[in-house]
Amino acid sequence: MKKLEDYIPERWISDKGSVNEYISCWTEKDALDREVVDALVVILRTSGCSWAREKGCTMCGYLSDCNPNVKGKDLVAQMRKALEKHQGQRILKIFTSGSFLDEREVPVDVRREILSMASEIFDQVIFETRPEYVSDESLQDCLSHIPNLQVALGLESANNVLLRDSINKGFQFEDYQTAANTVKESGATLKTYLLIKPPFLTENEAITDSIDSARMIQGISDVISFNPVNVQKGTLVERLWRRGEYRPPWLWSVVKVLEESKDFGPRVVSVPSGGGKRGGAHNCFDCDGDILSSIEKFSLGLRGSIEDVHCDCKERWLDVLDLQGFTQSSVDLEKFYG
Ligand code: SF4
Ligand SMILES: [Zn+2]
Repeated sequence: MKKLEDYIPERWISDKGSVNEYISCWTEKDALDREVVDALVVILRTSGCSWAREKGCTMCGYLSDCNPNVKGKDLVAQMRKALEKHQGQRILKIFTSGSFLDEREVPVDVRREILSMASEIFDQVIFETRPEYVSDESLQDCLSHIPNLQVALGLESANNVLLRDSINKGFQFEDYQTAANTVKESGATLKTYLLIKPPFLTENEAITDSIDSARMIQGISDVISFNPVNVQKGTLVERLWRRGEYRPPWLWSVVKVLEESKDFGPRVVSVPSGGGKRGGAHNCFDCDGDILSSIEKFSLGLRGSIEDVHCDCKERWLDVLDLQGFTQSSVDLEKFYG
């Protein structure tokens, strides 16, 4: 019998991106000690996520931005270029389109050099990693450079069936729990990414899964960041989306998930990548800008609720919740029936 991973398109790594050019770098707002501050975000071009090079997650197309020829010295050069953009930002967020603690992606001496550079100018550093690379030893080493460290783990869902049969995450909830405990015991803080609407789920199932997953990690994670799926090139999700068998979540669903989990304890945020576009979380396109702006303010702690946003398309979303429940299908009903 075929497995989910047999349907995942062949991954390809381009070697087009220059080895000493980062993929992207920008400034965004975030909250630090309840204060809204600027954060410098840098996406380093590495040799790629080790899991993506094997098979990878069904919604992830990051590998296409990586370059297998990137060496440690190139990562340091990329970081230096990114730091030229420093203009008083207090937080540094480092993404590698993989795992900052994976020594195949970021060698230990490079990791130390990057954190040491960062420690001189930022109050807090946040980086993302898969759970299998988290160890007390590696965290203590990072903390010796930057005491205010936040480790981000991409759990996506606390449901092991979804992790295996929808997301192809390559680890289980228990692996996340072990890594999360190690992070908390080290003295670092923990951010957890949860996916809204992995493939094959109805809109309602996706909402329920996100809320249930948040409930399962409410006691351990300091921050929960909900990532609504955005369609990325070369992925199984893209293939389903092009056939009308997948629609990114409605922004109403994102609002519902945020509202339902805001009192769980952890700080709850969402920065919908590609929001308001056809391949990202969207509603009717007329109200998307207003809702995204409300979600941003909510995530920064500038408003306590997003429930007061209105648009007629909310009725259509409610119809989808009803109809998909009836058909038990995740097919994009509007694409087929208008
Ligand atoms: S989502 Fe993260 S873990 Fe999964 S393939 Fe992409 S970079 Fe790797
Ligand atoms: Zn609308």
